[in-house]
Amino acid sequence: MSTTPAAVLWDMDGTLVDSEKVWTVSLADTARALGGALSAGAREAIIGSNLPRTLGIMFDDLGLPPDADRMAEAERMILRRTGELFRAGLEWRPGAQAALRAVRAAGWPTALVTNTGRELTELALDGIGREHFTVSVCGDEVPRGKPDPDPYLRAAELLGVDAADCLAVEDSPTGALAAERAGAAVLVVPCEIPVPDGPGRVRRASLVGLTPEGLRADYARARGRDAA
Ligand SMILES: [Mg+2]
Repeated sequence: MSTTPAAVLWDMDGTLVDSEKVWTVSLADTARALGGALSAGAREAIIGSNLPRTLGIMFDDLGLPPDADRMAEAERMILRRTGELFRAGLEWRPGAQAALRAVRAAGWPTALVTNTGRELTELALDGIGREHFTVSVCGDEVPRGKPDPDPYLRAAELLGVDAADCLAVEDSPTGALAAERAGAAVLVVPCEIPVPDGPGRVRRASLVGLTPEGLRADYARARGRDAA
C-alpha cells in the first residue's frame, strides 16, 4: 500500500488563512446589529461551521426567536461584512503559502474543502491563488457542511480518488470530524481552539517547514504504517 496520500485536502479558514479573526469581527458586528453580543462560547462553537449552523448558534446565544426573515437579514449582513474584510486581504497562516507551493510542485492532486460559501471563497482565492488547487468544494455546494462528511466526500469524488486514501489538513474540531467521517486521515494544525486527539489524526504546531516528505510521513503515521 502506498504511503503517499492520493490527494491533500486543505481546509481554508484558520488552516491556510487567518480568516477566523475576520469572521470574529463580522460576527460581532452582526450580533451588535441584532442588539446583542456573541458569547465566547458561541463564538467557539461557530468555528468551522457553515452559515445555517452559525446563524442557529448566534440566534440561540442572543436569545432571539429563529425568525426566518431576521435570520436571512443577518445572513446578508454577515456575508457583506465578511466580504468587505476578505477583499481587504487575508493573512496567511504561518508556513501555509510555502506548504501549498511545495505540495503543488510535487504534482500531488489537491483540493480546497471549505464550509465557507462560493462567493466568499472566490474572494479569498483571489489572494490565496487558484493554481494551488485541482478542485475546490464550498459549503453551499453540498447538502450538509462540516462536521458532516459531505464536503470531503465531494472533493474526493471530483478528484476521482477514495477519501480514505486522502490526507486532510484541518484547524478545528468541526473540520477534523468532517474529514474523519469521510474516512480521510487528518493532519490537525490548531489555530484558535484546541482539537482533540483521535485515531487517524496526527498534529503539527504549524505548517512552517512542511514538505511533501513531511506530509507523507504524517499520512503514514495517521494510518499507523511505517513511513519507510
Ligand atoms: Mg478551519
